[in-house]
Amino acid sequence: MQPSARTAFDYKPQNSRSPNHARWFISGLLLPLIGGIVAYTVATQDDSIGTPRQAISLDTLPPIPMEQVTIPAAMPPSLLGDTVEYVVRRNDTMDRIFRQLKLNLTDLATIRDVPSVQASLDQLRVGDIITLVHDEGLVQSLTRRISETEILSVTRVNEGFKSEVIETPLDIQEVQAEGTIDSSLFVAARAAGISPELILQLANDIFGWEIDFALDIQPGDKFNLVYEQKYRDGKFIGNGRILAADFINNGTLHRAVWFESKDGQVADYFAPDGRSMRRAFLRAPLEFTRISSNFNPKRRHPILNTIRAHKGVDYAASTGTVIKAAGDGRVAFVGTKGGYGRVVVLEHGGGVETLYGHMSRFSGIRKGQRVRQGTTIGFVGSSGAATGPHLHYEYLVNGVHKNPRTVRLPDAAPISDGYRAEFLARSGLMFAKLDRGGAATVASALPR
Ligand SMILES: [Zn+2]
Repeated sequence: MQPSARTAFDYKPQNSRSPNHARWFISGLLLPLIGGIVAYTVATQDDSIGTPRQAISLDTLPPIPMEQVTIPAAMPPSLLGDTVEYVVRRNDTMDRIFRQLKLNLTDLATIRDVPSVQASLDQLRVGDIITLVHDEGLVQSLTRRISETEILSVTRVNEGFKSEVIETPLDIQEVQAEGTIDSSLFVAARAAGISPELILQLANDIFGWEIDFALDIQPGDKFNLVYEQKYRDGKFIGNGRILAADFINNGTLHRAVWFESKDGQVADYFAPDGRSMRRAFLRAPLEFTRISSNFNPKRRHPILNTIRAHKGVDYAASTGTVIKAAGDGRVAFVGTKGGYGRVVVLEHGGGVETLYGHMSRFSGIRKGQRVRQGTTIGFVGSSGAATGPHLHYEYLVNGVHKNPRTVRLPDAAPISDGYRAEFLARSGLMFAKLDRGGAATVASALPR
């Protein structure tokens, strides 16, 4: 959270949104499936799967508009010369840019020598805009954004250059949006005006311990979010954090709120009762971004029968999808083993082991190594007895297979007593915003 950020009152979203019921109706029209979630558990031993499904790729979704650098309005009058706005390209360096623009290289050296300038000057990212004012190649000023809230400004003075960092605070506005899933979470999100990045936050950072976004999402599921939008000088520059979220999955309400304590010691998502949303095991040990995902909304849920002869859960996903450690643990096995193909086994303590089969390759982990929850351990493939790319996932307790989709996981830790009162007071306000719904009513500020 930016210290300078403020919350807007009376926010009206820029892109017009239809009323809620109309939005739900629109999302209902978005069948032909662009991509839903497919779930299946193979009930045979041969691990064969059907036709590969179409994978959702975030690359095909519209990009977030590139931000424009706003040059500080008050340029000192002494700075006469030509203005060049240079957009940084791949492999650019300041030297290369100066040579290309035929600017004085001694000036660059002098500018670099200005205390605290070099680090922020030389870190170039593609698309950055550097504004240079020069007089016959002699640099009069150099301006570039160095963070979301700061611009570096270097100007010529008598014997050299001086630099200053200009603060350009963001307006943080709170927006509420909701939708119902018909064909896929991403399609419903788009219909609700929510970016794919926010959906990934929802799936990976908030509900990834409670909901298996690969297998559990189904038609009729609903979401409701209050999230931040960042504006500078009235221009939308991107989304911020989700502040509160509801997800109704198969009729069960899951809710979470972002809580950052005033002293900064606590910053995470919590359930309304103050339990952390994090748990010892992820529901689905796959990166959500690339899970191949289609479901047929006419057929309710593709699997409700879970494990039969099969001792694990299969996640259809395209080859190369990141496989994550479901929980903290130690690598007990990494190698090739019969029908499993390339397989990793993790030991988690308490007699729990998890197994990940049919990988295309490993991530470079070694036997005996400790891994944290979420660490990439390998990539989806079809090695071993698999007829199509998928992850075969097993969860064992003291050597006995459990259904990872239904096994009872240890309870999450509650927020510590010292923060409980503060948490309850502030989360209550946030949940009230979720419950009211509708962007127009999200007007009151959360105390920060
Ligand atoms: Zn399997």
